[in-house]
Amino acid sequence: MIVMKFGGTSVADSQAISRVVSIVRDRLDQDPIVVVSAMAKVTDQLLTMARAAGSGDRKTALRLSRALRERHYNTAGELLGTALFTQFHNDLGIEFETLDELLRGISAVGELTPRTSDYVAAFGETLSSRIVAATMSAHGIAAQLVDSRECIVTDSTHTRAAPLFEETNDRLRSRLQPLLDAHILPVMGGFIGATKAGITTTIGRGGSDFSAAIVGAALGAQRIEIWTDVDGMMTTDPNLCSDARRIKVISFDEAAELAYFGAKVLHPATVLPAIHNNIPVQVLNSHNPDCEGTQIAARAPHCRNLFKAIAVKKRITIVDVAAPRMLLAHGFLKAIFEAFDRHRVPVDVVSTSEVSVSLTVDSNESIPALAADLAKLADVKYEGRKAIVCLVGENLREIPGIPARVFGELSDVKIRMISQGASEINLTFVIEEDAVPEVVRRLHKVFFSDLDPEVFA
Ligand code: ADP
Ligand code: ASP
Ligand code: MG
Repeated sequence: MIVMKFGGTSVADSQAISRVVSIVRDRLDQDPIVVVSAMAKVTDQLLTMARAAGSGDRKTALRLSRALRERHYNTAGELLGTALFTQFHNDLGIEFETLDELLRGISAVGELTPRTSDYVAAFGETLSSRIVAATMSAHGIAAQLVDSRECIVTDSTHTRAAPLFEETNDRLRSRLQPLLDAHILPVMGGFIGATKAGITTTIGRGGSDFSAAIVGAALGAQRIEIWTDVDGMMTTDPNLCSDARRIKVISFDEAAELAYFGAKVLHPATVLPAIHNNIPVQVLNSHNPDCEGTQIAARAPHCRNLFKAIAVKKRITIVDVAAPRMLLAHGFLKAIFEAFDRHRVPVDVVSTSEVSVSLTVDSNESIPALAADLAKLADVKYEGRKAIVCLVGENLREIPGIPARVFGELSDVKIRMISQGASEINLTFVIEEDAVPEVVRRLHKVFFSDLDPEVFA
């Protein structure tokens, strides 16, 4: 059994979905389970309409929902042909009526809670999985839609709910194994789940990869395939640097580090259930299915090059907390981190001096409230439009002179924070967001020109 996960761009329109059908058909003898994301950009659009409704702007919310309805109807119409689409139209119609009802309710109350936001966001995967399942059937593949909310059981931390593995594994096995035994292809939406009480949740943006890994781990998959719109994990984001090259094999640890620091090709959590169960993960390109992609393995082969890849995470804010009075008194850091915890703002990079601490966070709307809270302890400043650059490679801690080589290339660049050594495999620093293209281009040229053919394509 294998799990095949198709991201938003791989189900973006009828052409993309047709490609998915033929890719899956080629692997039917391996008993696949298909996990799909919402069609490209749909989750963003759903969240925009939810926010519009939350601010009482019912008209905008319903207008956006109409556009989404059109797109899904058109896609399904193109894929299914008239006769089948007439039947299926009704199924989609019911979903959209429910969505509109919800948007009207939210705008009547004028408040969007994380719980209702999840309910709206979940429509993306519900709709795409319906269309993909119907298309598979229309092409003569015995397929069945499985509602992920019946199988993925989570806590109630809405918008980033954590799976309850015991319950989830039981339900996944009892729901999916009989289908596999009968050679029926299960098609599920990623990203969504439900609490024990059946309330819809989502497991974090980009979470369909995680769903695929959860499913793969529960059923003991031989392999998890993450199908996306690039040839695999590359030496850097190919949209940022056209010289990016494909990495043939990368270790779980390195992939996790890259994902965490912005290589959104793979969700960081994906690798965890896979690692624990020793399941290989492969990143593949649905636009170029013959390409071998990237193999994510427990241990990567030795690589001649210092670094495997450069990841970049934009939209970062630096929070500077300075407390001359405290002179880093006992308990100062604890108090600071407690404030971040209270506002549920995760921290990425930290650097400290005797009387101050700088931390980076994803830019978001909680920062002003967090800063006000921190201001009770110390002087606080925050500044957005920063980016984290992360170089990942094996054993960096053991090799002398790495920072000198990296920063030697960037002698004219303003570096705001530096972190190395927290893990053996990354060197991370923070720069102005505007400097990203130039910095990545320069580092890529120096460190990725002469590549080890065992590791890179
Ligand atoms: P999907 O819709 O398949 O989940 P994502 O948009 O989440 O796709 O991830 C794929 C994108 O990740 C690529 O289009 C690419 O721009 C971006 N990306 C960032 N860093 C990397 C990297 N190192 N290698 C490959 N892709 C990367
Ligand atoms: N559709 C969700 C998102 O856009 C999940 C995913 O694509 O993995 O975040
Ligand atoms: Mg993704």
